[in-house]
Amino acid sequence: MGKLVRMLTKDGAVVVTAVDSTDIVNAAQSHHKTLELASAALGRLLTAASLMGYNLKNETDSLTLQIRGDGPLGTLIAVSDYMGNVRGYVENPMEQLPLNGKGKIDVGGGVGGGQLYVVKDLSLKEPYSGCIPLVSGEIAEDITEYYAVSEQTPTVCALGVLVDRDYTIKHAGGYLLQLLPFTPDETIDKIEANLKLMPSVTNMMLEGKTPEDFCKMLLEGMEPEILDETETSYKCRCSREKTLKGLASLPPEDIKELSEDEEITVDCRFCSEKYVFGKAELLKLIKE
Ligand SMILES: [Zn+2]
Repeated sequence: MGKLVRMLTKDGAVVVTAVDSTDIVNAAQSHHKTLELASAALGRLLTAASLMGYNLKNETDSLTLQIRGDGPLGTLIAVSDYMGNVRGYVENPMEQLPLNGKGKIDVGGGVGGGQLYVVKDLSLKEPYSGCIPLVSGEIAEDITEYYAVSEQTPTVCALGVLVDRDYTIKHAGGYLLQLLPFTPDETIDKIEANLKLMPSVTNMMLEGKTPEDFCKMLLEGMEPEILDETETSYKCRCSREKTLKGLASLPPEDIKELSEDEEITVDCRFCSEKYVFGKAELLKLIKE
């Protein structure tokens, strides 16, 4: 289980959402068999989606982050519900690159240049959607830029994924700090001073720090209080019924072509689930 926590300063001007997403990224790694580069990139995107999803208001709301980059990883998608439960995939999970100049996994190189799309389905007529050109492809910077440009909300985002030698995820987590419009200068100064002292997310986790600790460190001196917290996980919402519905939406000639085989297998792109449909079932779809 992942752990999400949200803390607010006493004056209500700054809110921090933080998550331990180690189990979430491990689940993604095991579903998609990602190697280091894809684990780091998809893990950061899932972590960001979980943080942003937890800030949605209603039970039926959902949020999708899509990165369409020209790097070797291809397209990445992460979808979150309002409790920060996420699912996602990466087009090319096995691609690898040498470490970057800082000796770190080259997520920016793996993602390349392109766009970040943010879609919020708030159960209104039309979903809200925003798009920005990628700043670095390192994902945290791109999320920060998205909030500045599309939502005019000053935001600091930090994300980290530490991959172990056996490809499992040792630690993953992150935080999203947001300033409300009326934040006094004095508070902004304190935040800036605290940010200078913040180690990287993975270094904090290696020292045994929790999401609550990240929040307390960021909001040190501002009497922070816990607003809410929850457990969160990698959760796919696929089912046989939904998959069949998806098939039913294909043009009849495509379904006919599929029905030439005795049975077809449809793989869920978010999890390892396989759904098998027989010829008769497909032919019935055409009739209907
Ligand atoms: Zn699934």
